[in-house]
Amino acid sequence: MPELPDVENYRRVLARNGLRKTIQRVVVRDARILGRLSARKFASRLHGRQLIETRRHGKHLLARIDRGGWLALHFGMIGALAFVRAGEDDPPFTRVRFEFARDGCLVYTSKRMLGRVGMTEDAGEFIAGHELGPDALDRHLDFAAFKAALLEGKSTAKSALMNQKKIAGIGNIFADEILFRARIDPTERTDRLEPAELRRLFRKMRDVLETSITRGAGSEHFAERVPRGFLIPERRKGGQCPRCGSHLKLFKAGSRTGYCCPRCQRC
Ligand SMILES: [Zn+2]
Repeated sequence: MPELPDVENYRRVLARNGLRKTIQRVVVRDARILGRLSARKFASRLHGRQLIETRRHGKHLLARIDRGGWLALHFGMIGALAFVRAGEDDPPFTRVRFEFARDGCLVYTSKRMLGRVGMTEDAGEFIAGHELGPDALDRHLDFAAFKAALLEGKSTAKSALMNQKKIAGIGNIFADEILFRARIDPTERTDRLEPAELRRLFRKMRDVLETSITRGAGSEHFAERVPRGFLIPERRKGGQCPRCGSHLKLFKAGSRTGYCCPRCQRC
């Protein structure tokens, strides 16, 4: 389930391998991923063009097209962006291939077709249209702004962190990780948190997201590369707290299953 760290690494894949290269052909393997946009129209807007800039906001990835407009990618539940060299096989569930005139192609994969590939004329309008709050790693998101966003309305710590209108980029897995690292009960209401807990939450949010980017979130081997003390490798039945060894507690938040340590987080 791609969240901010995963999508940031896909952005880096695009920035490293996909900028300033002429797109020779766009192959749409499954047009459902485009929603209402026609595959022919989509391909024709990219044909012969170059991507010249990347931008990520929360879980959305955008790439500016040299003659105007932006390519907009969202990864749904199980999606990714990868660079495939000439002669290499496409990864499974490839839905769209962006083939360059020389040197390989970028492939967008989506296992369950819940992602979206599209176009937008203006990146700023696109973000505004999705009612996204500031990106969780935005330099301008300081503690005061974070606190104000979290305390607005009555919600639990976990649902506040996952609310894209408050702060963009955090989903189920990283919300659990951040709350675990901050030792906060995910089901506690934000207005009941101590000032020190809110500070810790802010610090751990940045720390967890930045560390996960560096350790390769979004790649297959991420679970093996996460630092010691992270909850992610223990997210399974019978998983144990990496800090105190307690059996993790499963809880439901909406339709998603969360994990927390009953001892460290008093959950
Ligand atoms: Zn524990």
